[in-house]
Amino acid sequence: MITGLATRAQVKIEGTVQGVGFRPFVFRLARELDLTGWIVNGADGVMIEVEGAAEAVGRLIERLRTSFPPGAKVERISVRSVPAVGDREFMIQPSCEEGAKQLAISPDLATCADCVMELLDRTDRRFRYPWLSCTQCGPRFSMVTGVPYDRADTTMSRFVLCEACRAEYEAPENRRFHAESTACPTCGPRLVLWGAGGQLSAEGEEALERTCRIIRAGGIVAVKGIGGFHLWVDATSEEAVQRLRVRKRRPHKPFAVMFPSLEAIRMYCALAPEEAEWLTSSEAPIVILQRLKEISLVQGVAPGSATMGAMLPYTPLHHLLMSELEAPVVATSGNLCDEPIVTDEQEARRQLAGIADAFLIHDRPIARPMDDSVVRMAKSGPIVLRRARGLVPRTIRLPESIVRHIQGPVLAVGGHLKNTVALLDADRVLLSQHLGDLSTLETEYAVRQAIDDLQWLLQVKPCAVACDLHPDYRSTRLAEELAGRWDVPLIRVPHHHAHVAACMAEHGVTGEVLGIAWDGSGYGTDGSLWGGEFLLATYRESERLAHLHPFRLPGGKQAGREPWRAAFAVRWEKFGAQGCRAGVEERTEWKEQEKLVVAMLARQIQSPVTTSMGRLFDAVASMLGLCQVASFEGQAAMALEQEGIRASASVPGEDDAYPIPLDSRAEAPRQWIADWRPMIKLIADDLNRGIERSRIAYRFHRSLADLIGRAAERVGVRQVVLTGGCFQNVLLADLARARLESAGFVALTHREIPPNDGGLALGQAVVAAIQLGRRERVSPLKG
Ligand SMILES: [Zn+2]
Ligand SMILES: [Zn+2]
Ligand SMILES: [Zn+2]
Repeated sequence: MITGLATRAQVKIEGTVQGVGFRPFVFRLARELDLTGWIVNGADGVMIEVEGAAEAVGRLIERLRTSFPPGAKVERISVRSVPAVGDREFMIQPSCEEGAKQLAISPDLATCADCVMELLDRTDRRFRYPWLSCTQCGPRFSMVTGVPYDRADTTMSRFVLCEACRAEYEAPENRRFHAESTACPTCGPRLVLWGAGGQLSAEGEEALERTCRIIRAGGIVAVKGIGGFHLWVDATSEEAVQRLRVRKRRPHKPFAVMFPSLEAIRMYCALAPEEAEWLTSSEAPIVILQRLKEISLVQGVAPGSATMGAMLPYTPLHHLLMSELEAPVVATSGNLCDEPIVTDEQEARRQLAGIADAFLIHDRPIARPMDDSVVRMAKSGPIVLRRARGLVPRTIRLPESIVRHIQGPVLAVGGHLKNTVALLDADRVLLSQHLGDLSTLETEYAVRQAIDDLQWLLQVKPCAVACDLHPDYRSTRLAEELAGRWDVPLIRVPHHHAHVAACMAEHGVTGEVLGIAWDGSGYGTDGSLWGGEFLLATYRESERLAHLHPFRLPGGKQAGREPWRAAFAVRWEKFGAQGCRAGVEERTEWKEQEKLVVAMLARQIQSPVTTSMGRLFDAVASMLGLCQVASFEGQAAMALEQEGIRASASVPGEDDAYPIPLDSRAEAPRQWIADWRPMIKLIADDLNRGIERSRIAYRFHRSLADLIGRAAERVGVRQVVLTGGCFQNVLLADLARARLESAGFVALTHREIPPNDGGLALGQAVVAAIQLGRRERVSPLKG
């Protein structure tokens, strides 16, 4: 035991110090010098705390400055003294985000270079073993079943380490020292191939060979990975890809493609250095890339799309399969539409029956579904569109100035689409992985599991529950149930306020912001469907300063899937009944549905009022003939963005913005209406004049960026938040940012937290925690 005379120092080492045996090196040194404390990998290096006799602490720091393992590249060492805490020994802590020491569970890590080398080394005892991993790589969060993080509390507990593995596990100098996921052919999981009906077809190497044969022959194989099943199919065979589309009932939504290497990706896509960096990172997400026109994969992979989601192998099994196949494969989540990814082989057999021709499985259970993360690069940096494997469970730190106002832990249940849940405790928020659309029991089950996960990860019980304002969301009903059961307050947070707060929290912003929250739709404080909102917001409250000119959506929800309805609706607003169908091929007969839509608009029935920016995108995409009926969310907006990008590449900056005046009304002089009707008239004119539709699409984006700029100038608040699903659109985000920055504003866009409803829970949690702080004091229930 260390006495009161102990000195404790915190040492931060930046540079290339991970994956080079740095931690075992420090471990040996500390033990040699009789020091206690810990070392942990952080975001940009390693963090060490050592405690013991002052002289020994000084010697350790001296040694760190002068000698370190070969391969390590130390760029900076900073030392500060901290109060002694009386650790009993020196420990290597599992990798985690810097500053989140209590939460010692790392996201899943892509296979490291050392392990790939062993995988391909004939002399290595793990040669071609699909589950090799080490302290630098392998499954983490997807296999954890309890805390603290050790093997007994993972899904690897059933695999008892063999003598050779145990020796590595216990040797501080070894790369597998305390590698909880470690395994070898003697003691670890095994590979099995099932036929379509679940019958055993092959094992081990033969299972691999046969899998490749099936894929080469155009078959579909369900492959069990780190966080769930993928469906694999040859991406160079139109026939195979179409078969997958038909069987999965997914006619258009782009598929992600796994490539054997960066070089292979470069053959098909434009690749910036930052994109390559993401692809090869330990997070190894899907990165949305611009396709090259000259050489393209089969159309069926991403029909009509100028972009494509690409990824690299991130498990040893992927490496083995890809080195054998030497060709790109579609690797899409094994699930039914918008449900959580399937994790269990029996479940896979049931759910993917009729889709997969074979199942490549193993006996390491997956503790929780973990989809691939999706990242897209904007000019100002990355935007995470889907946050899951590789990124969760990293926490979001809240700024000091707001932590003071927070009372007790808050659980937030998110929205309806792309659901995630979040738990806020003290100065941090843990946002769950992407779970899916909450329209099925499977997603609801996953959401309940994620809520349990968050509680044991942070070791707290919520003293309030936050949800959306929408009374009919399944998430709202779940929140009502939980608040009732736990006997804690329920706080309903307006949808767009939550979006703005999520972006503020991600950037640690305090004070007032102008929040531009644009999305498909969210329940507004007046009970109508909002979606083109300008809010003056703090974490505590928001005020609606401006919104889009409202319009009616004939058919309600159906209008969200059929952009032509939105086009009818906006033309109705501008031209009335006569001009409603303008531009639709004049000679054709009126369709029954069109007559019905006009009748709905005329009589104002089944046509809820909305200010949705998402539907305005739909309307313009339909007017331009890009998409009349969408088979997946955001299809029309994506098409419009891609047209715009095409024009911006050819004639950047040449087109003027269409006018979208910001008017005030007599009855609400403090609230402005962004009137898009003059723009609709000009777009119709441009179409009549035969202006290229990509030019029109670009001008449309410019107009929205200009609208944002004018609104910011009028409001005069320096920080402007750009949030909501519409800001997945990088053309819009980039143009808006440029416009704002040129006028001296600070533009805040999402980075690690999705701008879409996948980020809502974070905003809900923060808003509720702050509002709760205003109410009576509620003591957190620890335990
Ligand atoms: Zn490794
Ligand atoms: Zn072993
Ligand atoms: Zn939303």
